[in-house]
Amino acid sequence: MYGKGILRGLSVTFKHFIQTYVDDLRYGWRKYSNKEDNFAIRQGPEAKGAFTVQYPDEKIAVPERFRFTPFLVVEDYDHPERPGQDWCTSCGICAKVCPPQCIWIVRGEDPNTGRPIPEPEAFFIDIDICMNCGYCAEFCPFDAIKMDHDYEMASYDRTKYHIHDKQRLSKEFSYWKSIAPTTAYEEMQARGGWEHSDVLKEKKKREKAAAKAE
Ligand code: SF4
Ligand code: SF4
Repeated sequence: MYGKGILRGLSVTFKHFIQTYVDDLRYGWRKYSNKEDNFAIRQGPEAKGAFTVQYPDEKIAVPERFRFTPFLVVEDYDHPERPGQDWCTSCGICAKVCPPQCIWIVRGEDPNTGRPIPEPEAFFIDIDICMNCGYCAEFCPFDAIKMDHDYEMASYDRTKYHIHDKQRLSKEFSYWKSIAPTTAYEEMQARGGWEHSDVLKEKKKREKAAAKAE
């Protein structure tokens, strides 16, 4: 019969329309609050009906695995031994694997000897070229580059605001733990501790040496 498909389509739309209000009654304000544990309700398979987000007044928190542009991990600024120190060792792997080649790194040098040191003097990412693939974070052997949740980067001046330098890229380790607690915990287990992998290696070396000396 002609029009059967249209009627079926309309019934689906009507079902969603009704479900929206049934769901609202079921969850109340929780459905529209910005708390992370409300994702299952808002964006997961449990979500029913349709709803509109009044962006930018209303913002839905992003899931932990969400990734936008990368940032560089530095030690917390109140770290007792290495405040603000880069986790990046300037190995250059991220720049090599980056498909659109939007990472530039300048390796640091010891001012006295002129020899390279394992930290970047300069680090740039062109976020307009970055395609948010996450390869840099995936390949970094030191967990030093991570994908950020900050997606509000629109501006009128591309050169001034969209080529992120080291200062703009650097964020404390505690920030990474706050936006991706599960991943940070998995990485910690793989590294064998919350510290930078080089610090952990040094610790192990010292412990071995002390055990031998006994
Ligand atoms: S791969 Fe990691 S450690 Fe190496 S340069 Fe990139 S951010 Fe730094
Ligand atoms: S997310 Fe992908 S495109 Fe962006 S800097 Fe990292 S490797 Fe390059």
